[in-house]
Amino acid sequence: MIKLHDKYFKPFISAKEIDDVIQRLAIEIAEDVGDEIPVFVGILNGSFMVVSDFVKKYPKPCEVTFIKLASYEGVKSTEDIQRLIGLTQDLTGRTVVILEDIIDTGNTLAEVHRIFENEKVKSLKIATLFYKPEAYKKDYKLHYVGIEIPNKFIVGFGLDYSGLGRNLPEIYQIKETQHMTNLVLFGPPGAGKGTQADFLKEKYNLVHISTGDVFRYNIKNETALGMLAKSYMDKGELVPDQVTIDMLNAEVEKNAGAKGFIFDGFPRTNAQAESLDKLMDSKDSQIDAMIALEVDDEILVERLLSRGKTSGRVDDADESIIRNRIAEYYDKTAILKDFYSAQNKYFGVDGVGSIEEITVRLSSVIDEL
Ligand code: AMP
Repeated sequence: MIKLHDKYFKPFISAKEIDDVIQRLAIEIAEDVGDEIPVFVGILNGSFMVVSDFVKKYPKPCEVTFIKLASYEGVKSTEDIQRLIGLTQDLTGRTVVILEDIIDTGNTLAEVHRIFENEKVKSLKIATLFYKPEAYKKDYKLHYVGIEIPNKFIVGFGLDYSGLGRNLPEIYQIKETQHMTNLVLFGPPGAGKGTQADFLKEKYNLVHISTGDVFRYNIKNETALGMLAKSYMDKGELVPDQVTIDMLNAEVEKNAGAKGFIFDGFPRTNAQAESLDKLMDSKDSQIDAMIALEVDDEILVERLLSRGKTSGRVDDADESIIRNRIAEYYDKTAILKDFYSAQNKYFGVDGVGSIEEITVRLSSVIDEL
């Protein structure tokens, strides 16, 4: 990630990918132009890198010139295009290819067409390295397009944010969301995840999402999701992945402005962990740590049986269901330790002791992140 002025940008398109695309464009255009000597017209400032790389890859004789237009103010494309340097040579009868770094609204392109209105060129073709189809508001044909990109602000490879970033050899995309701290609170049933999450969410101003709680809420309110989940939960089995993933995504979306999340009871399978990574990625964020409460099985059974006396939870009342939930944890869920260890994000914490002692242990991990 990089910071330019007040904004953060994340890597988006590599230098290698850009190079390959420019190579492809050069060959495609050379084939179409045939034996003519084309005039490539770069639009300054942004296109200086594209033009430089492009003409080096162009396999036949060609001419190069520039016009200089300005449209961007900060990260907004303005309607008002200024013509700073116009055409400086006669292009009558010539095959002209405009080389653009990026086409988004098409306002600059409209100005280019105005410039060429009274020039008697043989043909005028438009080539662009990047194209934002969602932003394009004009009808001008784009003859050669390198890469289509979403309508998000980018910098690098000639493109700037208020003057900075043009020199970067790759493309970066703006990071739109504020920084979040996202934790996965992990551990077998009865490890104390819910109790600890209640303290941690206050202390760190995070949103706590317990998939078990959301399912129980749905069961209580007799929703379709609740009815579906109940049959699995009553036996201590996992609810199918897609159902759980869709529900979790919806819970995260409900808390759009959150400073971060404590995920409790999710992910429980590899598929869930992968979908969580994707979700975090779509928010320009990530899981920072999996913090696991480690507690011996027999202590868990004891704790859950005693919780069952007051919680009214069917799955806490029967020792064989409890043991099944613990077995499900080791069968299906414990593999996630490897998933997060591989990313150096796994932190084991001793889950035996007083509530306060365990909160202190968890906090010291979070404060170190
Ligand atoms: P918990 O309150 O976390 O112990 O969850 C209670 C029950 O809800 C589990 O035994 C599962 O049946 C179901 N459940 C909760 N979270 C998940 C999940 N991530 N994937 C599948 N099932 C889940």
